[in-house]
Amino acid sequence: MSWTELLEFDRKHIWHPYTSIIDPLPVYPVESANGVRIKLAGGQEVIDGMSSWWCAIHGYNHPALNAAAQAQLERMSHVMFGGLTHEPAVHLAGMLAGIVPKGLEKIFFCDSGSVSVEVALKMAIQYWRAMGREGKTRFLSLEKGYHGDTLGAMSVCDPVTGMHTLFSGYLNHNYFAPSPECAFDEPCRDMHLARVRDILRGHGHEIAAFILEPVVQGAGGMWFYSPAYLKEIRKLCREFEVLLIADEIATGFGRTGKLFACEHADISPDIICLGKALTGGYISLAATMCTATIASGICSSAPGVFMHGPTFMANPLACSLALASVKLLLGQNWKQRIRSIEQQMKKELEPCRSIPGVRDVRVLGAIGVMELDTEVNVAAAQKLFLEMNVWIRPFLNLIYIMPPYIIEPGDLSRLTQAMAVAAKSI
Ligand SMILES: *Cc1c(COP(=O)(O)O)cnc(C)c1O
Repeated sequence: MSWTELLEFDRKHIWHPYTSIIDPLPVYPVESANGVRIKLAGGQEVIDGMSSWWCAIHGYNHPALNAAAQAQLERMSHVMFGGLTHEPAVHLAGMLAGIVPKGLEKIFFCDSGSVSVEVALKMAIQYWRAMGREGKTRFLSLEKGYHGDTLGAMSVCDPVTGMHTLFSGYLNHNYFAPSPECAFDEPCRDMHLARVRDILRGHGHEIAAFILEPVVQGAGGMWFYSPAYLKEIRKLCREFEVLLIADEIATGFGRTGKLFACEHADISPDIICLGKALTGGYISLAATMCTATIASGICSSAPGVFMHGPTFMANPLACSLALASVKLLLGQNWKQRIRSIEQQMKKELEPCRSIPGVRDVRVLGAIGVMELDTEVNVAAAQKLFLEMNVWIRPFLNLIYIMPPYIIEPGDLSRLTQAMAVAAKSI
């Protein structure tokens, strides 16, 4: 088939994320990807500003990750995890327990971020049931939060951007506190916590857990809030006997300048969700980790087991890639690398504040965000970016980049320049 024919078939039969199948946005065929460059059919090479949605932290086609995948393929790609185990899972579990915030020593492997959120919600409910608190079956989360697209995860996403009305007859009813107004470098005041405290006081007895994205709210608005807020939430959750679930699916593995965003506030949640960059963007894998208290609580009363077990649980190929990716990250001076990306983005994006229509510019770690007054026309923006040989995909009123950590200063400048050009012309 020619590319024209492939694209025609794609248009007619294949759904892309959040798109219409009768009137889809254009998609661009990719031939290969290497380092920070994505090669489109026809040979055009574009600089990747997205890390394929937070994932490809080491860039594409990395020799060490390729080697890990090949070595594991020679042994086995997959075996069931019921009744069997293998080195990649055990080594990865040990490695993760050593780097996540302290206390999170029990791990459940699953296949995607959304599923790891489902698992976390189920853990919280089973825990409280085991404690004799059957009434605790609701969740508290934040407006502008994003936790995935499966039904349980959707029910804790922002009710507006998560389109709750569309599924209102089906979704669970949960509680929502305002997105924290205190920005990353601002203090957290009582007024920022008032609504959370009210909800916990009034409904704590029916709330199993508070689920949030620590410090960076991603897909719900690319907002960076004060670590002091997170610190206070940790205290409030203890006070009102509500578990804290940190969804680090986007923020984990260095993206915010810390290995995990919880470290900005020096807190440990009761449960953590990991995904996205876990395998360096090679293959889908996620994990939900919890404390020994939660784990033994869950298993201390009937049915005595945790009720979940996906077919591809702890897939050996995925675990090997995750192990190799985490080793690769820890084996280099990742902190310095991310700090220099942060400094360069601050320097190059800050001047964009004066462009008419730009409402805010913010940078944290290897995330650079430009917030506009109006919504971006995605199809037009994508075309413009490709003309500049960069791959940047805006959403809502946000133009943002989160490049692979291996990006060189020259390529990063091309991304920030493209953002400035787009802001002036959109
Ligand atoms: C992407 C994301 C998810 C969902 O992960 P999937 O792998 O797409 O299911 C959940 N939470 C956060 C914070 C995310 O960024």
